[in-house]
Formats: sequence, structure tokens, C-alpha cells
Amino acid sequence: MSEIGPCDWCEEVLQPYLDRELSATEVAEVEHHLAACRWCEKRFKFETDLRRLVRQAVIEPMDAALKAKLAALRLEL
Ligand SMILES: [Zn+2]
Repeated sequence: MSEIGPCDWCEEVLQPYLDRELSATEVAEVEHHLAACRWCEKRFKFETDLRRLVRQAVIEPMDAALKAKLAALRLEL
């Protein structure tokens, strides 16, 4: 398990794993694999970060600068 490259198995289980759709046994299997496979570990980290960013974008759709700009526009109306 030292080679670094696309891992078909990980592509298959990564999404259901992140969506918490796997059984406890499967989760343990994924975590065991993540610890051994550097490719999947990286892939997993990337997906986790991506999901966090997407969630943040949903919660905070506008950044502060844009909000200020919009507030200024509203005052001019
Ligand atoms: Zn892998």
C-alpha cells in the first residue's frame, strides 16, 4: 500500500463515507484504508475541505466587503 495514485476503491466509498451512509463495519474498513493509503488520505482531506467550504458558502453567501457594498447601494436608493 505504498504506491501513490488513483485508487478505484476509494472513489467508490469516499462519497458514501462522507455522507455517513456506510455501516460501522464499512466505516472501520475505510478508516483502516485511509491510514494505509496516502492517495486516499489526500483525496479524503480534499473532499472534507471542499465540503466545509461549500457549507460555509451556504451559511455565509456574501463576504463582508460585498455586504458593505450592498448596504451602501441600499442607502443610495
Ligand atoms: Zn486507497
